[in-house]
Amino acid sequence: MNFNCVFPNCKYKENNIEEEEFLKHLRDKHHNEIISISEKEEIPINMVEMITVSNSKVFINS
Ligand SMILES: [Zn+2]
Repeated sequence: MNFNCVFPNCKYKENNIEEEEFLKHLRDKHHNEIISISEKEEIPINMVEMITVSNSKVFINS
């Protein structure tokens, strides 16, 4: 699976990695952002992670 991190100012882009690997990146680099989204939107952290993972997936090669 290909991922292109949706967070602004993040240049993370990897091809052919597993979802868990991208999750590791999120927890490593975007922990604070994820928490603040979770608080702002009042949704659980794992939901924010899921949404972020899904939004960061690249389905079409460009
Ligand atoms: Zn990132």
